[in-house]
Amino acid sequence: MSLNLIIYAIFVLLIALTIHFLENKYPLENIKRISTIKFDFIVITTSTLLVFFIMDHLLNEKIVSFIHSFVGLGGNINSWPPWMRLVLALVVGDFGYYLVHRMMHLPFFWNTHRFHHSIVKIYWFSGLRTSFLNSLIIRIPYLVGFQIFEVGYKELLIASILLIIVNFWIHANLKLRVDNFLSYFIITPRFHRLHHVNDEQVAGNNFGNIFSIWDHLFGTAIIDESWDKSEKGEMLEWREVYRQIIGF
Ligand SMILES: [Zn+2]
Ligand SMILES: [Zn+2]
Repeated sequence: MSLNLIIYAIFVLLIALTIHFLENKYPLENIKRISTIKFDFIVITTSTLLVFFIMDHLLNEKIVSFIHSFVGLGGNINSWPPWMRLVLALVVGDFGYYLVHRMMHLPFFWNTHRFHHSIVKIYWFSGLRTSFLNSLIIRIPYLVGFQIFEVGYKELLIASILLIIVNFWIHANLKLRVDNFLSYFIITPRFHRLHHVNDEQVAGNNFGNIFSIWDHLFGTAIIDESWDKSEKGEMLEWREVYRQIIGF
């Protein structure tokens, strides 16, 4: 493991710990993380290992260069500043995420995404609970964005770290005074929490991941405090887990 990776891992850990302690101090809901943390740790590790294994085998250079030849803009895009290419790639990827997430809520694709909506107690780590197929499909839009703007290895690492932190952030059990205001620009803990509410009218909104512009643009944004303490997720039994962790 290179020094950079160790530094990034420590950085992610510090952010996670900060959110963990902030959740203790300013919780949006009174939930006991301890009752679900063991389950989350097992299923998230299994699903993540599966994704890494497949990505390692499937996402080889041939496939990446095929995607690149398909979506690459060519020309002198390499001369654009790396940070600018990274931001543009994230914007394009995030728009794709919005579309794919909406697609996964259609009956035909629902099984790929159901596992994520089985989270009953939503806190920073629980958001990583996604089925293997969900994790694979949802990475494609960002991958396309990175290939369009020829994002380099260093920026790719930064983006990966950022996307993990975004996942911690949007699932954080945090009550913030600026939440509603911020959710006009980015996805916030309350904004995403509404997407997990056990009410189809409410849950059929707030599909974004980083930026909330797509939800506001396409009329799927809800900002509402009255659902803060409402029920979320569907309880899972262990025998259902094996199937849902794959996502079919
Ligand atoms: Zn969803
Ligand atoms: Zn979620």
